[in-house]
Amino acid sequence: MRRSLLALMSRQVRGEVIGVLLIALALIVLQLAVWVLVLDRATAGAEQAGLVRVRLAAETIEQAVRRQIDALDRFEFNLSQFAHRWPEGSAAPAYFAQRLRRLALDRRYNISTVAHFNIDPALDWHADTGPEARGPSDADAIRNMVLPPDTLVVGDPELAAEPTNWLIPVYFRPTLDNGTVAGVGLLTLDGAELSATLGRLVSWPGQQVAMWRQDGRYLAGSVNGVMAVQRRLTAPARPGPDGRIQLRLLSLLNGEDRFVAFKQIENQGLFISVSSPAAYELTSYYRFRTIMLSLEASVVALIIGTAFLVLILRSRARVRLALSQAETEQDAFERQHAELEHILDGVDAGVYRMRVGPGDRFVRYDYNAGVARLIGRTMEEVGKVRGVLAFAEPQPTEAHRLASLVDLQQTGHHTYEAQIRCGDGHLRWMRFQLRVVGHDGDIMECVGLMTDIEVEKAATASAIMAARLATLGELSAGIAHEMKQPLTVIALLAETTESMLSDEPDTPPPPLGEIAKMQRRIVTMVQRATAITDHLRGVARGQDSAMEPVSLPEAVDGALMLCRSSLREAQIDVTIDIPAELPLVIGRLVLIEQVLMNLLMNARDAMATIPAGDRRVAITAGLEDDVLRVRVHDSGPGIPLHVLPRLFQAFFTTKPVGVGTGLGLSICLGILKSCGGDIVAANPSGGGAEFTLTLLRADRAGHAAAT
Ligand code: ADP
Repeated sequence: MRRSLLALMSRQVRGEVIGVLLIALALIVLQLAVWVLVLDRATAGAEQAGLVRVRLAAETIEQAVRRQIDALDRFEFNLSQFAHRWPEGSAAPAYFAQRLRRLALDRRYNISTVAHFNIDPALDWHADTGPEARGPSDADAIRNMVLPPDTLVVGDPELAAEPTNWLIPVYFRPTLDNGTVAGVGLLTLDGAELSATLGRLVSWPGQQVAMWRQDGRYLAGSVNGVMAVQRRLTAPARPGPDGRIQLRLLSLLNGEDRFVAFKQIENQGLFISVSSPAAYELTSYYRFRTIMLSLEASVVALIIGTAFLVLILRSRARVRLALSQAETEQDAFERQHAELEHILDGVDAGVYRMRVGPGDRFVRYDYNAGVARLIGRTMEEVGKVRGVLAFAEPQPTEAHRLASLVDLQQTGHHTYEAQIRCGDGHLRWMRFQLRVVGHDGDIMECVGLMTDIEVEKAATASAIMAARLATLGELSAGIAHEMKQPLTVIALLAETTESMLSDEPDTPPPPLGEIAKMQRRIVTMVQRATAITDHLRGVARGQDSAMEPVSLPEAVDGALMLCRSSLREAQIDVTIDIPAELPLVIGRLVLIEQVLMNLLMNARDAMATIPAGDRRVAITAGLEDDVLRVRVHDSGPGIPLHVLPRLFQAFFTTKPVGVGTGLGLSICLGILKSCGGDIVAANPSGGGAEFTLTLLRADRAGHAAAT
């Protein structure tokens, strides 16, 4: 995708560029306006000057041409004089004929032929320079021409025998003193020569002079005469009433743009035209225009150049400022970073950053000195492993890692505890608390806090032990009761057997089958008592063994066996709804039993205030979201709202001193967390309190790996 230059600039720079460009544009428009105005005037002035020039030339040339025509007039006068002395009906005297011929041949007047057509054709006379041009029929037509007296009448130009020339006939009517018409005189002007004469009047390059008859017919001109005669060219305009006109026209011959002035030749039925190429006339104007244009271009370039120079200087200054600001900010950032690192290194905890994702999971990439210090190892040693859990013993299983990942994804944080082999060879408990602080696609950016919980662990262990012994003490009465029943049965059976085996005389023989049955019952009772004592021993020892697959129904049975008498005494109705096909869970039988026992004893205490008939506890379990959920729901008054947030805090109790320790639920939470599970409490809408235990499936924890 292409983006324009403007789009790439920052808003400030864009604003400046647009501003400067607008100013430059305004200046350019102003310049152009001035320029157009000046040029417009200059054009008009130059055109006017050109027209005036051709008009003046026309006036000058008109005078020259008039002098020529005056000469012709004089020639005609001579001819008339000749005619005067020429008695009607007589042949031309040799003397005049000779003189006229000489005049004609002189070419001073551009005369080609001279002739006189008498009324009597026999008396026709012509100079012998070209009589053949006039045939007999022509001669008749000329003789009968009606002409005003003593006036030169110009006829139509005719092409001459030579291809480059033409002839212009000029007719006149000599009259005798007595008023008698003496025929028609004819002067034939040589077109090419007349044109050459006009050409000599041309005074600057490109100037053209032409002579036209009053009706506009072309007679002669400084260029292209033959063609004009051939085409019977007529003038595109006539002199105005004042005898002159000047125009800008396209040449009839070659379409050239020209300035033309027409001028009437005084007292003659003729006018002349003088023209000059517009390009020539406007040469100085064009020069002026070129200078103006260059000037204009320079000014525009100067304006734009200055504008951009200003922009460049400004942006350079801005870049310098931004750079120095960035440097200052960088310095400040580095200082803050160093301070932060210093503070973090001083913290008595490990702080680290970790990227957690479904593929390459749990990769630590930054950590403070506290991480190494807490586990008594060097930074290099810590740097070589992907996480401190590489020193954990035992190594976290794949199930734990999976559970951690799910927990992070669902809640945004996760806490994990493990024993780490420290640099001095000892194992120490560490707690790892991860919190998600950002996401990069599937990857979660986490900040971790590693704390030494060795002391806390020891305290918790002794608290668990104390609680366990307390529970034992509390339940000993119930246990004694449980033991009492099989012992009583055993004693009874033993006594009965003894009486049956009496060796008194007169006693019937002992019923051996009956005795064997009783013996079996005694063994069963002993097994039951042994189970109770075995279990009790396990509870007292704490059995700090590794996690194992645990059967939930077994754990519920075990817990109930220990507190059944206590619950019965408190008149509590216990219902159990656990599907037989539930999978095994991760944990330890004794610990899960203890959690359930704690919950049952709390339920018993909570229901002490309600009528005996209403005391019910329901234990249900099921598979939800691939984990096992066990719910212990009682019909008591529920957990007071102010208690809920602190329920799982150690030493928090609402019971009187000496009755409650406030450790029960915090121990339950600790036990479930160590099994990878959880416990939460709520007051359901139906009433009472409900504790929900989450336990991981044992059949999903087959792959082991380190976190
Ligand atoms: P303790 O039982 O020694 O008080 P726990 O941690 O087991 O310590 O319990 C903490 C508190 O939680 C109890 O004091 C009681 O107020 C409340 N509690 C526990 N279970 C229930 C329950 N089923 N119904 C109402 N409140 C309960």
